[in-house]
Amino acid sequence: MTTNQALFDTAQRLMPGGVNSPVRAFGSVGGTPVSMVAGQGPYLTDAEGKQYVDLVGSWGPALLGHSNPAVLEAVRAAVDKGLGFGTSHPLEARLAELVRSRVPSAQMIRMVSTGTEATMTAIRLARGATGKNLIVKFAGCYHGHSDGLLAAAGSGVATLGLPGSAGVTQAQASETIVIEYNDRQALEQVFADHGGNIAAVITEATPANMGVVPPEPGFNQLIRDLTAQHGALMIFDEVMTGFRITEAGYWGISGRAEGWTPDLFTFGKVIGGGMPAAAVAGRAEMMEHLAPTGPVYHAGTLSGNPVAMAAGVATLENATAEVYEHIDLKAQVVADGLSATLSDAGVDHTLQKVGSLFSVAFGTSRTGVRDYSQAQAQEAFRYGPFFHAMLEQGVYLPPSVFEAWFLSAAHDDAAIDQILSALPRAAKAAAQAG
Ligand SMILES: *Cc1c(COP(=O)(O)O)cnc(C)c1O
Repeated sequence: MTTNQALFDTAQRLMPGGVNSPVRAFGSVGGTPVSMVAGQGPYLTDAEGKQYVDLVGSWGPALLGHSNPAVLEAVRAAVDKGLGFGTSHPLEARLAELVRSRVPSAQMIRMVSTGTEATMTAIRLARGATGKNLIVKFAGCYHGHSDGLLAAAGSGVATLGLPGSAGVTQAQASETIVIEYNDRQALEQVFADHGGNIAAVITEATPANMGVVPPEPGFNQLIRDLTAQHGALMIFDEVMTGFRITEAGYWGISGRAEGWTPDLFTFGKVIGGGMPAAAVAGRAEMMEHLAPTGPVYHAGTLSGNPVAMAAGVATLENATAEVYEHIDLKAQVVADGLSATLSDAGVDHTLQKVGSLFSVAFGTSRTGVRDYSQAQAQEAFRYGPFFHAMLEQGVYLPPSVFEAWFLSAAHDDAAIDQILSALPRAAKAAAQAG
């Protein structure tokens, strides 16, 4: 039988690091990456036939669980008619309609293929619409891997401990101003110093790529107020949170309740239901700056691909209120179990949680985690042993302490019990790490 090790050996000869996205290489947890060959409900099966309860969910898209029958049926129906035509297709508007029904200020939508492309396009749109150059981002927020957004990015960049990326020019980096998250004073200072030149502030709706870091009360509102005062746009990156935290994303429990809307949203992950689809959305007059109605160019051979649209439509149509209730409930159970088990084992930590998204930060109970410096200062060395103890017991966690854990509608009591009963041994491994 093929082993994970044999597959990884082959992959390393053919692909840099043996992977197509860095975090998959297990760099920060060590050991051999697991090659998955199938997903069903809350489970993944690897190339050696071992089954795991999955808490990665394809990094978020698998809101309904793997191989959801309604999603697979919709995809099969689309595939039977052809893989793509490079033309308009009825399901594009159907998906746009579903997005707008959940987030009314997403009046118009441009479909793209990845979250990276969505934020990149939103930035270009902001510069094109305002005629200004500077972008403000927060340290630890990840917005994909386009050049100007890699400065102090979280996610894989955080996992590898890189300040940014080689290959990003000084000129590109100098047009991105990076400040600490949740730092109201720094944000006010940036606008006092550069207000006339700022095209946009881009923020994760609630950061989850440096581990989960909730916005402090009023922080998103402050971004909204300052951008509005200075003629800059607010880009609310909901690539991870959109249609996951609530049916209307994180905006559904922040902007909607507080009475504000960003100028632009970016969506990804859940919107594609596991296929490559993402989107930029916002007010109609803003979105019409995009070609062909406006001068800001964006195009894509695969944008609005019918198979991807079919997966997205079926996912959103089946992401009912009960689905969100179920995921919220199960996330609470796992998060509570995780925190209690770590405490029992004497492992200092904070449980970082927003809605159904959560992560753990080790050795941070004294400081808390409100920004990237605090996230990076944690005892990250405890995560590798913790991760591998869970993996051995058949629970697949994100292979980095800086990533959130994802539940799905398919995580039933059996799956949750398997997670909970694996925790004590992992907590002990975390306690003994040194
Ligand atoms: C995943 C992610 C992206 C990038 O999306 P890709 O599809 O991986 O390019 C952008 N922003 C946030 C908040 C994300 O979580």
